[in-house]
Amino acid sequence: MTDISIRKSGHAGRITLQRPKALNALTYQMCLQIDAALKDWAMDGDIALVIIDAEGEKAFCAGGDIAEMYDTGTKGDYAYGRKFWFDEYRMNNRIAEYPKPVASFLQGFTMGGGVGVGCHGSHRIVGESSQIAMPECGIGLVPDVGGTYVLANAPGRLGEYLGTTAARMTAGDAIAVGFADGFIPEAEWPALIEALETTGDITILEQAVQDRPDAPLLGLQPEIDRHFAGEALSDILNNLEHDGGEFAQDALKKLSRNAPLSTACTVEMIHRLRSPNLTMRKALDMEYRFTYRAMEHGDFIEGIRAQIIDKDRNPNWQHDLHKVPPVDVSKMLIPLGKNALNFEEEDDTMNIGFIGLGNMGGPMAANLAKAGYRVSGFDTAGVTVEGVTNVASAPEAAAGADVVITMLPNGAILRVVADQILPAMKAGAVLLDCSTVDVASARDVASQADAAGLGALDAPVSGGVGGATAGTLTFMVGGSDQAFAIAKPLFDVIGQKAVHCGPSGNGQAAKICNNMILGITMIGTCEAFALADKLGLDRQAMFDVVSTSSGYSWTMNAYCPAPGVGPTSPADNGYQPGFAAELMLKDLRLSQQAAEAADADTPLGEAATALYQQFVETEDGLGMDFSAMLPRFEKRGRA
Ligand code: NAD
Repeated sequence: MTDISIRKSGHAGRITLQRPKALNALTYQMCLQIDAALKDWAMDGDIALVIIDAEGEKAFCAGGDIAEMYDTGTKGDYAYGRKFWFDEYRMNNRIAEYPKPVASFLQGFTMGGGVGVGCHGSHRIVGESSQIAMPECGIGLVPDVGGTYVLANAPGRLGEYLGTTAARMTAGDAIAVGFADGFIPEAEWPALIEALETTGDITILEQAVQDRPDAPLLGLQPEIDRHFAGEALSDILNNLEHDGGEFAQDALKKLSRNAPLSTACTVEMIHRLRSPNLTMRKALDMEYRFTYRAMEHGDFIEGIRAQIIDKDRNPNWQHDLHKVPPVDVSKMLIPLGKNALNFEEEDDTMNIGFIGLGNMGGPMAANLAKAGYRVSGFDTAGVTVEGVTNVASAPEAAAGADVVITMLPNGAILRVVADQILPAMKAGAVLLDCSTVDVASARDVASQADAAGLGALDAPVSGGVGGATAGTLTFMVGGSDQAFAIAKPLFDVIGQKAVHCGPSGNGQAAKICNNMILGITMIGTCEAFALADKLGLDRQAMFDVVSTSSGYSWTMNAYCPAPGVGPTSPADNGYQPGFAAELMLKDLRLSQQAAEAADADTPLGEAATALYQQFVETEDGLGMDFSAMLPRFEKRGRA
């Protein structure tokens, strides 16, 4: 079983922590996986909300997995821990600022790192077994993962109390303090989660919330406010020590176990952060100042040793509880300058080179630019396309591109262009050829690319200029899984479907097989209309019968070559192409070239090629749509 399950279920993005034996403690990998999933789902139209839950009865998540931090930190390597916290805090903030509802279900313990995952979403649900706490001071840290945001916003001085004593909150307390939103009996959770997945409707959860259970902490608040209102840790200690009452002595005992520097910093942080303008980002920035320095200058390493490694519970803290110099607190909390936490997103938009900006390439490049990709374009005819940066040569368009798209007239030109651009492409980039070319050229170019450490895909299209303009092309793709995965987001922008047909050349193979069928059926459909005319059969009647009988085909039903019959097609527009007869001839020739090379018997393909050649070269087919075969047949008799 993996540590975490990330999946889509119905309308929900689902995150389930599944390390119950480790009380679902958060590893660095789990943080990264949660962050990546949230990033994806924010843009995913199928996902209406996110649900986070965890396996096991004991804990939603009892903190972070600090073993590796300890291993690296004891060797004087602080980079791992700093990176862990940096990325974890960014994930915590993503949950807090998430544009869609995030529901979390917090059974058992939710502590430390678990608070960062479970207590910042929009719908935080607690049940009978819930216990929430921020015990970080006990291991020489401070309440982090956004915990100081909640503590600074808590009523009265409850924040200082909870942060410095690590006292546990019940479900009712957590709601009263601001760590949770609502109580729902745990027996109801599975059915609710299922309903949320099916409907994507968060109001279901809101309607299921019951009255807040008793919050014992609120009863203690007057006393807590009195004791924890001082300027600094020393004031709090003074107040507690001069009160012999049970509550004060218990609080003092809890507080005294913790690292003095951490405890003093916690009080200072909450005081600095408490303001109506507090944001999660500000709180995380402050926390990171401490955690960045925690291994080098704080008590973190000693804290883990005593609590987790040696388990002697006898830490040798740097300071006496009563003697933490204010300057040491300040040193832990001064801004980090260039090392400060930031929330900038890496710019992962791909750079695209586009070569061949003709009837098809032009609108495809324009659609990519419109979708936000940086597109550099080149065409020997000097064509310019809106949103595309024109460059002076093919290698210039290819240099620095993550994907180079070619949309060229034929295989010979593709080979020339590949020779020019492959040396200019950056390592790991993908050459995505969308032209229709012969299978041999596609395979040769792909192996050339492979030898140069580049990916290659042959991805001819169907859908014509209309599909290129509307972004609804279908791609038939040959090449590796890896290259296909890289190009997939682009197919989603410029097409409606991309079928991965296997290794290099298979895209072209699929295309020419498809178009051989198309050429043959168009001729058959046109022949049949011409025969029907001569037999006195009305064209509409012919369409009505054939389009619902066994003679039906795409050429009859969707692209009928008879004007005024069936859905609108180039026949209704004087046979202006659509798909020009000479392009059909090109594809049929490619099919015959491939059939020859593969020793395949294709008599109808051969006949269709001969007919289109005659039509384009010696009759008036050039520049006409390929369905203009019908007027050609109309004029002719059997001779
Ligand atoms: P096009 O002739 O309009 O465009 C090709 C472009 O490539 C031209 O602008 C040309 O100047 C440019 N070009 C030629 N040599 C070049 C070079 N060495 N460097 C840079 N640019 C160069 O053709 P199109 O209709 O856009 O078709 C392109 C490809 O798409 C073809 O392989 C065609 O078979 C295929 N296709 C076309 C359609 C369609 O309906 N037009 C449909 C499916 C597939």
